Amino acid sequence: MQVYIGLGSNLAEPVKQINWAIDALNTLADTAVIKQSSLYSSPPMGPQDQPDYVNAVVLIDTELSPHLLLDGLQAIEQQQGRVRKRHWGERTIDLDILIYDDVVIDDQRLQLPHPGIADRSFVLYPLAEIAPDIDIPILGDIRQLVENCPPAGIHLLEKN
Ligand code: ATP
Ligand code: CA
Ligand code: CA
Repeated sequence: MQVYIGLGSNLAEPVKQINWAIDALNTLADTAVIKQSSLYSSPPMGPQDQPDYVNAVVLIDTELSPHLLLDGLQAIEQQQGRVRKRHWGERTIDLDILIYDDVVIDDQRLQLPHPGIADRSFVLYPLAEIAPDIDIPILGDIRQLVENCPPAGIHLLEKN
């Protein structure tokens, strides 16, 4: 299955955190990273008294089911010392499943496609970089989504 993962970090050397997480994704069972966006910098969502974020999106090929993949992502977050402090607060690493093939899920643990995609430039712009033609379940053509989502302070940090 083709799955897009959103990565974000704003603590403890964010660029390293993102790169460690990408390496860790490659070590998940039956999973390989296929494409990787550039790194972007973006102002925080939610509480403003926290550092800017580093964001990226990767495409993985995986045989894991959506829920088992979420288990894997949460294990990586734990390995990288993520501590829950406050809603949308600072974190060493955040790994979200953005799009899982053409799957639509809305249950207690998992929503697919991720509900934040359309109004978050720090998700849409790196996603559009590696998937310029994608038609997202429920949301539609990514070009249209990008057109309707202002950059909101995002900038290119490290071109891939
Ligand atoms: P947001 O989800 O708005 O980006 P967040 O990433 O800060 O906020 P977390 O604290 O990382 O939120 O996750 C809260 C819960 O979201 C997780 O425990 C998980 O069960 C749930 N969740 C629902 N859909 C997804 C998804 N597509 N990818 C990752 N987690 C998800
Ligand atoms: Ca998130
Ligand atoms: Ca998350």
